[in-house]
Amino acid sequence: MKNILDLKIDELQDYFARLGEPAFRVKQVYQGLYQKGYERFDEFTTLSRSLRQRLAEDFVLRSFKELDRITSPLDGTTKLLWQLSDGMKIESVIIYEKKRVTFCISSQIGCALDCKFCATGKMGWLRDLTVGEIVEQVLQMKKLAERPPTNIVFMGMGEPMLNYDNVMRAAEILADEGGLNFSRKKITISTSGIIPGIKRMADEGRPFRLAISLNAADQQKRLQTMPIAKKYPLEQLLKAAQYYYQKTRKRITFEYVLIAGFNDSIEDAKKLVKISRQVPCKINVIPVNSIDDHFPAPSQESLERFEEAIQESVYAVTVRNRKGWDIQAACGMLYAANEKQKIKPEKLSLTDQAH
Ligand code: SAH
Ligand code: SF4
Repeated sequence: MKNILDLKIDELQDYFARLGEPAFRVKQVYQGLYQKGYERFDEFTTLSRSLRQRLAEDFVLRSFKELDRITSPLDGTTKLLWQLSDGMKIESVIIYEKKRVTFCISSQIGCALDCKFCATGKMGWLRDLTVGEIVEQVLQMKKLAERPPTNIVFMGMGEPMLNYDNVMRAAEILADEGGLNFSRKKITISTSGIIPGIKRMADEGRPFRLAISLNAADQQKRLQTMPIAKKYPLEQLLKAAQYYYQKTRKRITFEYVLIAGFNDSIEDAKKLVKISRQVPCKINVIPVNSIDDHFPAPSQESLERFEEAIQESVYAVTVRNRKGWDIQAACGMLYAANEKQKIKPEKLSLTDQAH
């Protein structure tokens, strides 16, 4: 059965037109879905009983089961573990920071890119999320969060650019004025540096923010922790970033995961400053959330030293707090145990149909 959250408003419009329903129906339904957050079709009381029944026959409206919810006693960060209709598991995180409420969502189950410091990378890639599954994370979290989201970031599990079509479509659905009406400028797509995705976002004039996980300021170092740097070398990545800026005039955010003794020297800072002169950017320094001894977190002292070394010359530098580190909900710590061998082939084919 089709997930109604896969549909853009004009597609839902076509569906109602085929049923001979008036155009205003789609507005009512979209508002019910995205503003009122209805979870069952019988909640759509402005529709006739027979229409509600028809919708329930044609569409799924919720497909997640909440398996676990952990809230950090330190900062309120909440990690949610969902089970999807095929039994696979993903995580999403709600982060509270002063007035900001950030929903961090996943784009894939696992990730194929295997960055050495990242827990999601250890899972391998299991499958892409459908549009409805990306959208449902936001709707489910909205019900649970203390306040509505101010930011949505694709920084959970997976590489958004390798599920480009579904990610962009989901972001457009979340931004639709007739539905959730979420500001496009407050949606960030974070990539490890998939050049074709960056170019495509520029060419298509996508109005979302782009973040690139640089994590090292020279090719050799980048290669040591990010195997994808082999396919898309730093030099070309920076050219793509320049291209993006020229086309969109939008500043990129470079994320830089700071690892003690690896990329936190003054020399590294200087190289990063040089890059920031080539590409108009903001820099977000993230002290590594250590998943093992190979990637130790920097001391407060070396973090400050690094920050100081780039601050003077870079347009904007932020140091991201380790929100949620105590509950394994911080960046790169999302790992949902999915056992490949336990998925039966017939269940996998169900998923294929959902695409
Ligand atoms: N695949 C995309 C988006 C998900 S990862 C990407 O790589 O950009 C989101 C962010 O978490 C990235 O900037 C990544 O570099 C960072 N990250 C991964 N592992 C981390 C860790 N152990 N500590 C801190 N940040 C980490
Ligand atoms: Fe994938 Fe991003 Fe983790 Fe790298 S950092 S393994 S690209 S999720």
